[in-house]
Amino acid sequence: MSKIKGLIKRQISNQYIVMDLDTKTEYNSLASGKLRYVRVDEKSSFNVPYGRGTKREQKTMQISPKVGDIVDLELIEDQAMIENIRPRKNDLIRPDVANVDQVLLVFSATRPEFSFNLLDKFLVILNEQNLDIILLVSKIDLVDEQDLETLKTKLNYYEEKTNLEIYYVNSKQRVGFDILEHIFKDKITVLAGQTGVGKSTLLNALIPELSIKTQEISEALGRGKHTTRHSELYDFKGGYICDTPGFSRVEINIFEKEDLKLYYKDFVELSYDCKFSSCNHINEPGCAVKEALENGEIPRERYDNYLLFFEEILKKKDRF
Ligand code: ZN
Repeated sequence: MSKIKGLIKRQISNQYIVMDLDTKTEYNSLASGKLRYVRVDEKSSFNVPYGRGTKREQKTMQISPKVGDIVDLELIEDQAMIENIRPRKNDLIRPDVANVDQVLLVFSATRPEFSFNLLDKFLVILNEQNLDIILLVSKIDLVDEQDLETLKTKLNYYEEKTNLEIYYVNSKQRVGFDILEHIFKDKITVLAGQTGVGKSTLLNALIPELSIKTQEISEALGRGKHTTRHSELYDFKGGYICDTPGFSRVEINIFEKEDLKLYYKDFVELSYDCKFSSCNHINEPGCAVKEALENGEIPRERYDNYLLFFEEILKKKDRF
């Protein structure tokens, strides 16, 4: 019997592909029945510590391993068993991945047209989950030089005021790839973005052997066509890229409208000069955000999107 520290790279029903972090050997593993149990608050479904009194009903639940988990593996004869899941740095539900380091947000320069509303929405959602974000603008070959410059100028604001790292690529000709590759090192990167922005083209251009490899895995497991129903980690430049069907439906899940402003790094920076510390930057007097808006220091569109999301949260709350 030997013990191994591994990373779950793929899950197919009750089987996990776990990679030995030292030797890089991959094991087809099962989850042990004695994985640790946690108490779950039935009503809110949040984990609560042992012993804390609450009127809500509690039940004990088993934690299931998931892609991205660091686990302790035991080899019992020929079968690899996951005996323990190491504490997670973060735990996403959609996509279903643990220990994500960063999200590569893919937006096309055109087809579909670049949407600042969607960008602002993604930034709120990802900031709320405390994830590092990198923006990748794809299909730059499909817009003329001047339109690309206009887009770049608009995005400059995000680079300067929200510390967003931005890359511009053309996946088909691999333009912009050389300066992109370093971002993946030692990290689990999840791709996100709406359908049609070229996530698959990008992934296949970054990892050309991917389409062949997934086919082989599918065949080895007696499956026909490869489907991205499950999340999966691919080795890339010293890190891992997660191919996932998640982030397809983007919805702001913030419940309190007052919390929205916390996920606008540029607003937070200005808010120290607001007259009221509780300022929501809507119509309060002495608001530094509104002042910056009037002075043209914040793009009108970004502020308008903020108002839209604020209204969205208000409406959602009314339904409860
Ligand atoms: Zn304000």
